[in-house]
Amino acid sequence: MANSKYEYVKKFETDDRLPPSSWIVVRIDGCHFHQFSAEHAFEKPNDENALNLMNSCAVSMLEQFPDIVFAYGVSDEYSFIWKETTQFYQRRASKLLSLSVSYFTSVYVMKWKEFFPHKELKGPPYFDGRVVCYPRAKIVQDYLAWRQVDCHINNQYNTCFWMLVKSGKTQREAQELLKGTQAKDKNELLFQQFNVNYDKLPQMFRKGSCVYRKKVEEVVKLDDTGNPVTRTRSKVAVEHVDIIGPKFWSDLPYILEEE
Ligand code: ATP
Ligand code: ATP
Ligand code: MG
Ligand code: MG
Repeated sequence: MANSKYEYVKKFETDDRLPPSSWIVVRIDGCHFHQFSAEHAFEKPNDENALNLMNSCAVSMLEQFPDIVFAYGVSDEYSFIWKETTQFYQRRASKLLSLSVSYFTSVYVMKWKEFFPHKELKGPPYFDGRVVCYPRAKIVQDYLAWRQVDCHINNQYNTCFWMLVKSGKTQREAQELLKGTQAKDKNELLFQQFNVNYDKLPQMFRKGSCVYRKKVEEVVKLDDTGNPVTRTRSKVAVEHVDIIGPKFWSDLPYILEEE
């Protein structure tokens, strides 16, 4: 750009580069999705298509941004973990945050028809977002465990709540009945009153969704003697597994590998 007397305005911009050598977590969350989900008649407590749409958007994110190493989603939120060494946009917080939110949102709108072929999008879905830096992989694991515990607690509550409502209780009555109950009581209520074994509900509802690159062996051709020649390729996968315990991370140490 040519120099002009107006150039000085650039000097008012602040440096928002995130500290080096730390994992960057961007968490986005749907704005007013309580209302958005009602307007679009999402199934309660868990609309499977809506969750799959979120997951598909997260897969697009990992395909678009190679420095995102892991994502975890539940309800209307998704957390994206950028690798500690990323130099994307010089680690500028506002750039990473704004492009994550806008990319995710536009993919959500683009893919809406694919997941809801018979539902018109009635208004613009939009998301808020925040950035947090964590200096060690262990803390990132604890961050993700925090989100998965939250998923479990909310899902258990919501499952009971909607079972009660669907059985004829008012929302207020359901709320009163659940006040002060422990996890054990809720499982008992589901089993005794509705013959539902909580542990048998779909994994996606109970565990949320993990998105990461998996190494897969792929046959590329056969050699002269007819033996398969394979190549390791990485493919973005969605899984609904436990990330609270150490096993997931010890089985896949490359995901949060520190340099
Ligand atoms: P805010 O703008 O503060 O985030 P919100 O209305 O989005 O408000 P959240 O705490 O983010 O509130 O909760 C999201 C709400 O969206 C849930 O309470 C639930 O009602 C609804 N929701 C999101 N995803 C689904 C889904 N897959 N199936 C059913 N309901 C959903
Ligand atoms: P970054 O991703 O860092 O924002 P950028 O390429 O988007 O990089 P900007 O500084 O945002 O760069 O500048 C926007 C550029 O987009 C302009 O320099 C111009 O080349 C192009 N551009 C934007 N709007 C128009 C338009 N209406 N017609 C033609 N070119 C446009
Ligand atoms: Mg929300
Ligand atoms: Mg939310």
